[in-house]
Amino acid sequence: MIDQGLSPEEILKEILEGFRFRILAEREVSYQCQCSRERTRNLLVSMGRKEIQEILEEEGQVEVKCHFCGGVYCYEKEEIDKLFDKVKDINEKRENKK
Ligand SMILES: [Zn+2]
Repeated sequence: MIDQGLSPEEILKEILEGFRFRILAEREVSYQCQCSRERTRNLLVSMGRKEIQEILEEEGQVEVKCHFCGGVYCYEKEEIDKLFDKVKDINEKRENKK
């Protein structure tokens, strides 16, 4: 019964090594990961400047890897500085409005 009821996917799985992985990859493409450089920036900001600076000092750059699609976003010190300066500006403006 089971031998006769193989789906095309199962047959291909038998033939192609690592086919399961391929199906998984296809699914992720159709699902379309919503990550972007902007989103990882928000993540960096939420981690806090101090933490990010420590990573920068140790690694020379900050790498954010998306757990869903495996996309890697790299940030150099210059970009980090700009990012947090901008955050600081926005926070100061907010303070002034109070
Ligand atoms: Zn992603």
